[in-house]
Amino acid sequence: MSGPLRVAVVGSGPAGFYAAGALLDAEASVEVDMIERLPTPWGLVRLGVAPDHPKLKTVSRAFERIALKPGFRFFGNVEVGRDLSHGDLTRLYDAVIYAFGAQTDRRLGIPGEDLPGSWSATELVAWYNGHPDFQELEFDLNVERAVVIGNGNVALDVARMLALTPEELAPTDTTDPAIEAIGTSTIKDIVVVGRRGPAQASWTTQELKELGELAGADVVVDPAELDLDPASEASLEGDTNARRNMEVLRDFAAREPTGKPVTLRLRFLASPIAIHGDERVGSIELVRNRLEEQDGSLVAVPTDEREKLECGLVFRSVGYRGVGLPELPFEEGRGTIRNELGRVVDTDGNHVAQSYCAGWIKRGPTGIIGTNKKDATETVAQLLDDVHEGRLSHREEVTADAVEALLAERVVRAVMYPGWTSIDEHERASGERLGRPRVKLRTWDELLEAAERVAAERA
Ligand code: NAP
Repeated sequence: MSGPLRVAVVGSGPAGFYAAGALLDAEASVEVDMIERLPTPWGLVRLGVAPDHPKLKTVSRAFERIALKPGFRFFGNVEVGRDLSHGDLTRLYDAVIYAFGAQTDRRLGIPGEDLPGSWSATELVAWYNGHPDFQELEFDLNVERAVVIGNGNVALDVARMLALTPEELAPTDTTDPAIEAIGTSTIKDIVVVGRRGPAQASWTTQELKELGELAGADVVVDPAELDLDPASEASLEGDTNARRNMEVLRDFAAREPTGKPVTLRLRFLASPIAIHGDERVGSIELVRNRLEEQDGSLVAVPTDEREKLECGLVFRSVGYRGVGLPELPFEEGRGTIRNELGRVVDTDGNHVAQSYCAGWIKRGPTGIIGTNKKDATETVAQLLDDVHEGRLSHREEVTADAVEALLAERVVRAVMYPGWTSIDEHERASGERLGRPRVKLRTWDELLEAAERVAAERA
């Protein structure tokens, strides 16, 4: 190989950074251009992880170290599918790793889902975290009750964030409008509804436990809902997380409410079948479920029992969903790029030349941040194996300048790494004055201006 292998990594969340890190640590000589649609890197670490979980966000330090490695470049504000196509990337690079995550969310498919006041959890999360595409949304939190559908960690994030007191919000990097709206909200009752039982909830125990430590909310669980059917009871045997969750839930169920202003209620074995309201959400209709064993797993089956719960807000938190690129094979059912261990493959299992994927767009929206390290390393191992076996090599015409020339020709205002560090420094400095980790810039204009100001000063 005459020059370094040039690889584009599309997406700058954990999977993208771990892929870049593995490539730059490889014995082979590799250069990485990370291409990101937003002017800011870190994906869900910046824009998904709840602002009251600052420790989880410290993983960004590892990403900063990767960005400093020789051979790394960042191209923010460059969207694949708009500014560059898959064809451009395979022409400009020797290989491409797609790591752009899951761009949308799953729907419930029930009447009333689009009424004002019915939101996806991902919209709320993106809003309170300062995602520039979601700042125009207007969440009216002046209602009595909010219902969160789903029993995953995102549902817990949403329920917890809505329950935080102004004092709990103050030291976080939640955006100012979200601090104001949550701090002055009139929500008294937050109900988290799972379609299956407590033993099937996908929360991690640490996240569940935190609900019991909120300053302004009592967590309430009906002890009767913790009586498990024999199959659920048996399933605890080999499932440490579920067993620990049950212990925490039993502790919650044994507690007496202490009169905190908000009640956070965990409910099980109920599915939404309709959201009602004239002009906006007024109530949600739930059907009681029972569990039935089907193909080795316990599934929720509706009974005849129904219930109407008055509420002013509904957040569906039933999982993210990947969106593909037109030129790449996609598995609709799973919402993932078709792949084998990260090699993109067509329906016959043949490798789509130069193409790889990592993270949620490879395996679906599961796992914690660290899961992406193993996932991305697996993908990079396939890529390096292709290099080793002579199936992938550097082409002379692939140069570092070519992408910059093409972006200039297409008048794309790419934000390079110094542009991002100038956003970062600005946000941290604003935060420091207030005892917060950062005050986020929230609009495209603010972000691009901050990036370009310093770029101009340094030029
Ligand atoms: P998730 O863990 O897959 O949870 C989705 C939930 O939605 C499940 O309870 C699922 O129930 C339920 N659901 C799916 N379809 C439904 C329907 N039609 N009606 C009612 N309920 C439905 O996904 P997530 O909460 O979006 O989280 C995504 C990933 O990010 C997870 O791996 C999570 O652990 C991770 N995450 C981690 C943290 C953290 O570590 N602090 C924070 C946030 C997210 P079934 O089980 O019955 O399908």
